[in-house]
Amino acid sequence: GAPSGANGQSQLPTEEDMTLLQLQQRYAEEAAKRIRADGPTQFLDLTDADTDRFKAIAEDPWADHAALNAKETVKDGAAYKFLFLGGGYGGLIFTVRLIQAGLINVPDDVRLVDAAGGFGGTWYWNRYPGLHCDVESYIYMPLLEETVYMPKQKYAPGTELREHADRIATQFDLHDKALFRSNAKAATWDEEEKLWTVQVTEGRGPNEPSRELTLKCQYLLVASGVLNVPHVPKIPGLEGFGGEMFHTARWNYSATGGSYENPDMEKLKDKRVGIIGTGATSIQVIPQLAKWAKELYVFQRTPSAVHPRDQKATDPEEWKSKIASKKGWQMERALNFAAHMSLAAKEGEENLTRIPAYSALIGSPGYGLVEPTPEAIGANVARLYKMDTPTAETARARVDQIVKDPETANKLKAWYPSWCKRPTFSDMYLQAFNEPNVHLIDTNGQGIEAATKDGLVFAGKECPVDVLVLSTGYRSPAFGNGNPAAKTGIEVIGRGGLSMDEKWKNIGSATLHGVATSGFPNLFFAFGPQTAATANFVTMLEVGIQHTAHILAKAEEKVGAGSRAVVEVTREEEEAWTMQVMMRAPYFATIMGCTPGYLNGEGHSARQDPKDMMKASRSSGWSEGMLSYIKVLEEYRSEGSLKGIEVTAAY
Ligand code: FAD
Ligand code: NDP
Repeated sequence: GAPSGANGQSQLPTEEDMTLLQLQQRYAEEAAKRIRADGPTQFLDLTDADTDRFKAIAEDPWADHAALNAKETVKDGAAYKFLFLGGGYGGLIFTVRLIQAGLINVPDDVRLVDAAGGFGGTWYWNRYPGLHCDVESYIYMPLLEETVYMPKQKYAPGTELREHADRIATQFDLHDKALFRSNAKAATWDEEEKLWTVQVTEGRGPNEPSRELTLKCQYLLVASGVLNVPHVPKIPGLEGFGGEMFHTARWNYSATGGSYENPDMEKLKDKRVGIIGTGATSIQVIPQLAKWAKELYVFQRTPSAVHPRDQKATDPEEWKSKIASKKGWQMERALNFAAHMSLAAKEGEENLTRIPAYSALIGSPGYGLVEPTPEAIGANVARLYKMDTPTAETARARVDQIVKDPETANKLKAWYPSWCKRPTFSDMYLQAFNEPNVHLIDTNGQGIEAATKDGLVFAGKECPVDVLVLSTGYRSPAFGNGNPAAKTGIEVIGRGGLSMDEKWKNIGSATLHGVATSGFPNLFFAFGPQTAATANFVTMLEVGIQHTAHILAKAEEKVGAGSRAVVEVTREEEEAWTMQVMMRAPYFATIMGCTPGYLNGEGHSARQDPKDMMKASRSSGWSEGMLSYIKVLEEYRSEGSLKGIEVTAAY
């Protein structure tokens, strides 16, 4: 309908309204071009690969099998107090916070299990040239106060991010407490013993058979991450491609030359390289490939919005006097960033957000509670589009300023609002398209048609390449409708034989504060559904983990040293929390109409039947943003009774 004025009466649309409507129309047309009938099933998860070619692509290129085989860090059948699934930043923060809370006291209190061959999670697997974090490293790198570490640059490279994971493990003595190359397959609650039994398959490299292990634990802590199941598009003929082909999450330096530490990709000097995808990963990779490849063909389906990076070295003086100047600085700085991201900065404070409309994804106080009516939802969407327009226009204008060929520049412009994809930052990406060896193959939203032995086909034309880089992303973090078991790839059986998959299938997400779910005692998630989001994932981990640490400390205190605690959320209280979350779902309707991507089920979220949509709304986030969510948790903790959590003694 026509926009309403302040007095609620209909008015004629202004010129600004018309411009905004035209922009929305353009965005909608671009999104529609990309909707595919196969939605999320257009991809093959590499963990599901059943052919030799894709299985080989999924393999861990980094594990030092000889060194790992020489170590015996777990005993088959042994019981530990805490078992962490995941040795990324999540698993490390979780372990350290429980050590600091006095819950982990002796070496056998803790083990970490990870499919990777070392610590780091995302930063273990991803070693592509150009990799950096996109959030300031001062708040992205965890535990900087504890490790007394000063990141070298405002945005740390992947090498430094992975080294930091090892630094944390060294400082907290965790290297001998991790079982690497090991996939957890199933976890079952043993009602008699009041322990979890976890089935693990340990890979031991190409020359030794794998081992099946059974581990037991009092508490099972799931820190299995997001964005760690690489996927590839089911492009006809892809597997038959004759040249080298790999995914960015398993970079193949033997094909490119160079190493992670020194990515001089000499072997590409006489090669035609193709790269599929232009998401956040490609934005970092492409300038590096452009330096070395004889010819680089960039196959684009949807261009990314690329903002300036503004990388700089850390100034030690500023570090000491301003950044790391007092105890507790890191969390304070992280929360300050979170406040700005959700537009909750205090009066008079400098606005730190370059992309204010990103608050569409993470919520915002004052706007988060939207009536579930088309009018109210429409008004929220309109508010965000209006807020975003200057950001989006600046990003498009930047393309014209940098890219010399106008036709190429036009194809590199992003026609979607900022919240539809992770914003990207680079001072090298757009510039690469001015190089004579870099060629943009824009598929106008359609993607590649087919692959042959010699290259890729688009619009009936074959483009021959020698090396093919699949920068095609990951299984969506929304996979399994927020079900932590599905996301982790394990079967979890709780009290009375209850399967977590069944629970989620029947009712959808149900947690207390996003950290635990009824029927599954002593199981906690580092990052569950029904929590608040912010642009810095590490803050999300810290906030959830702090809450769990509090719950566990209280529970242990209640039961005392003479027994083992059994801690379980009540059905009633998790449903009450779920209702709170569902009330906040209308705010996120903005994402439904986005250009397809992992945030909106490749455009299919809006196409579910109403029952499924209702269920999906139970996995919603906290629409008033991180600080509001923290306040709720703090109030709960200071009340002190662990309301909605039953604590009993195992014996
Ligand atoms: P992960 O780092 O994913 O670690 C989880 C670990 O659990 C993995 O090693 C995995 O192997 C293991 N695991 C999972 N299931 C099982 C199982 N069944 N058995 C055994 N092991 C299992 N976020 C930001 O905020 N800022 C950034 O700049 C940023 N950059 C990113 C760049 C890339 C290329 C990617 C892919 C993601 C990025 N992210 C970023 C998101 C990033 O994943 C998180 O910030 C963070 O590292 C997640 O930590 P985690 O420990 O929770 O998960
Ligand atoms: P994305 O899912 O963002 O990108 C995948 C790319 O592959 C898209 O451009 C997609 O196009 C394209 N694609 C998929 N299928 C086809 C096809 N059939 N034909 C042509 N193109 C195709 O994955 P990324 O690895 O880039 O990033 C994933 C996430 O990881 C980011 O959103 C971010 O959260 C995180 N990340 C952060 C970084 C950082 O800066 N620190 C760096 C890297 C990743 P389309 O868009 O049309 O689907």
